[in-house]
Amino acid sequence: MTATVFERIPGQEAAIAFLRGSAERPHHAYVLAGPEGSGRSLAARAFAAALLCPDGGCGECRNCRLALRDQHPNEFVVEPEGRDIHVDTIREEVWQPAFRTPPEPGRKIFLIREADRLSPAAADTMLKVLEEPPADSVFLLLSARAHELPETIWSRCHVVTFTALSEPFVVTALVAEGVAEPRARVAARLAGGNLGRARRLATDEDGLGFRDVAAEALSAAGTGPAGALAGAELVVAAAAAYKEGLGRELKEELGPFLDEKGRPEEAYRGAIRRIETRFHRRERRAEREFVDRVLLAASALLRDRIVAATGASTELLLNPDLPPPASVPVARSAAALAAMELGRADLADDVNLNARLLVERALLSAGSDPSLSTGTLRLPAG
Ligand SMILES: [Zn+2]
Repeated sequence: MTATVFERIPGQEAAIAFLRGSAERPHHAYVLAGPEGSGRSLAARAFAAALLCPDGGCGECRNCRLALRDQHPNEFVVEPEGRDIHVDTIREEVWQPAFRTPPEPGRKIFLIREADRLSPAAADTMLKVLEEPPADSVFLLLSARAHELPETIWSRCHVVTFTALSEPFVVTALVAEGVAEPRARVAARLAGGNLGRARRLATDEDGLGFRDVAAEALSAAGTGPAGALAGAELVVAAAAAYKEGLGRELKEELGPFLDEKGRPEEAYRGAIRRIETRFHRRERRAEREFVDRVLLAASALLRDRIVAATGASTELLLNPDLPPPASVPVARSAAALAAMELGRADLADDVNLNARLLVERALLSAGSDPSLSTGTLRLPAG
């Protein structure tokens, strides 16, 4: 038993020690609970590798390499489609395969991301599987809001808790990965304790691109209602471009499963179909994710305006790499900040997303002068 796969997860010693110890005789189900970016996904992949690798997670063999990319044929990954995880998804991608022979000899691993988003019917089906779990299957439920999982599910799982990582820890981890320190600092600051997000910000070519979009949209909104609408248009167009980029990523992910002529290898048809399904789901979520990142970046920019206007220490700036923020009255920045956060809350609740309307509403509120109105501008619901 080498289990080197676990050495690649920074922080979270207690959680990792527990999973490492469990890998030899796994329980049938685990909840990996902890905030976004605390390392749950990495840990789940490492655990899956340890369970699928004949050496207990060497990190080098084919089983490990595929599991570490969520691409092992015996690994079934479920994520929300839109806001929820639907019952059909759990039926087709958990319940049915759980009771079938695995695609390759060995265990089957089921990874349910954002498990708190299981619809009530989906949770019922999930529960049925957990009540009589097939002996060759291990279920990993990941959640940042694990307390929202039904007690009935919770009580059938071992709970592994991940804690939020500190900003200095995230900086150190990124620097150790080869990121230049100033960039690591900005990324860590903007991402809070979210190492995964910080890594994307620091290493993606366009990692900070959505902050530029947020800055442009905000300054457009500051010129009045027409500017706010133009700013919203900008955000929606950038979200569409982001979604297109995901399509290119899919081609790269499928690379290892294709022969020299770019055709799928027979043995991998099932794995390819699942990767494609997952990507199409990600594509459907892409707009929501992108808009949320832009609104979050806009919040950070507005917060910095408040810091600057109140003369507080520049240490408190969330975007320390940018030139000092424009001087805008605090009340106005605070109202705009509230509009962004309201927009994010609406985004989380919105089942049939209308991104344009939502962004327009946030930017119109952000652009309006609070001294001229009694409240933020809100369109009627529905
Ligand atoms: Zn291995």
